[in-house]
Amino acid sequence: MTFHAKFSGYADPALHAAGLYIGGKWQSGSGITVLDPSTGNLLAEVADAAIEDAQRAVDAADAAAAGWRATPARQRSEILRRWYQLMTQHAEELATLIALENGKALADARGEVAYAAEFFRWYAEEATRIPGEFRHTPSGSHNILVDHEPIGIAVLITPWNFPAAMATRKIGPALAAGCTVILKPASETPLTAYAMARLGEEAGVPPGVVNVLTTSNPGGITNAMLADPRVRKLSFTGSTGVGRVLLAEAAKSVVSCSMELGGNAPFIVFDDAHLEAALDGAMIAKMRNAGEACTAANRFYVQAGIHDAFVAGLTARMKSLKIGPGYDPETQCGPMITQNAVRKIDRLVSEALAAGARATTGGKPLTENGYFYPPTVLENVPVNASIAREEIFGPVAPVYKFESDDEAIRLANNTEYGLAAYIYSRDLKRAMKVGKRIETGMLGINRGLMSDPAAPFGGVKQSGLGREGGVTGILEFMEPKYFAVDY
Ligand code: NAD
Repeated sequence: MTFHAKFSGYADPALHAAGLYIGGKWQSGSGITVLDPSTGNLLAEVADAAIEDAQRAVDAADAAAAGWRATPARQRSEILRRWYQLMTQHAEELATLIALENGKALADARGEVAYAAEFFRWYAEEATRIPGEFRHTPSGSHNILVDHEPIGIAVLITPWNFPAAMATRKIGPALAAGCTVILKPASETPLTAYAMARLGEEAGVPPGVVNVLTTSNPGGITNAMLADPRVRKLSFTGSTGVGRVLLAEAAKSVVSCSMELGGNAPFIVFDDAHLEAALDGAMIAKMRNAGEACTAANRFYVQAGIHDAFVAGLTARMKSLKIGPGYDPETQCGPMITQNAVRKIDRLVSEALAAGARATTGGKPLTENGYFYPPTVLENVPVNASIAREEIFGPVAPVYKFESDDEAIRLANNTEYGLAAYIYSRDLKRAMKVGKRIETGMLGINRGLMSDPAAPFGGVKQSGLGREGGVTGILEFMEPKYFAVDY
């Protein structure tokens, strides 16, 4: 295995893991190349799991299941707490690793590590507060007793855009609930997942409780695991298209699914908004991870009276961002994950321009090395353009003008997605009234960032099923069991 010189200079060699992690053992291998998206050069090569490896991972998760389930909640909690502390101690190395393999700016990568570690701290706390119920039957003749039990072996599949946080947001509640897991990280960003598994070992996670597999055959491996009757949970974060395929596959053995899928967030700015606050929020909602976030503002609906000032302010801010490799501390907008991602953004922008939109900054891919697309603002975009329907997943802000509250609501809801939405207005009553009519799982009011481990994260419509984080996140990994007792 090879590592980029930048990385070996920064990081603790203990975090240089690149083999499959099954049953507490590391199995070296090769076959999956990890590229530096700022140059396209080879960063590292990691093992490529075959179907037999996935079966061994299920065996390992099964062998560890009874012991982990029987481990007192306090002990499970303390292991998660140590894992949180180790991630915090190694925050700088983990952030560098994320900036290298994902390309996001170091400031975003540092933010991700802090956010990711918080899921372990939050679920260390929640592990000791698993709820139950004791009720009287309406007839008064009996009591109803409800316990929550770990659901069983969980397969966790994560995307490349938050390589640390999407993994901890699943591992934290699963381990707190008493489940053993198999994590399959995205092949574009496996190094962070392996580095975290190393820290988990150090934190005292017993062998087999967390297993990690990278593969070039995600469909084959996942189908094999879902067909095994010992696997009872699939927790997936990724695109709606892959989510649909996995839901169909999980249906064959009726596996419980939690799905965190794509988004198409509207960002609504009313005439009475505080302009500077709306622009600050817009930059966070659009440019965190250079737009590669499921909660990224994808459509800016701006009321006629504030429209021109908003476009001018957004253009100035987007123009001033420094583009470069994520690991350069000066960078504010890193590369996209792949050349294909740049092609998709280019297609959406070109179609919008051909339909009458105008770019006030940016508008075409950069031609230097690496997968760069410049921060772009589009105005006069037709409301039915492809860029209004598809996830852009890049640093492009299309702005649409609207007149009335009803029109803003109709436009915002005109999508199959319903993950996140943003509203800027000084009139909180108006914002709440409009917010109630927006079809979304999460709504930021005068805020451009809503993610919080203590809050329920997830979407409605085709943005997903279930919630991660908060007090309910742990229940996604538990089954209620009802005891009908005659005393
Ligand atoms: P993706 O759907 O292409 O891949 C996600 C994961 O699924 C990867 O690990 C991939 O290897 C795996 N995968 C692909 N095909 C598979 C198959 N047939 N069977 C099993 N696994 C398979 O998504 P991506 O490009 O990695 O991530 C971007 C997408 O993720 C965007 O749509 C984004 O909105 C979404 N996302 C959603 C959330 C959320 O919380 N709702 C968070 C982050 C990202």
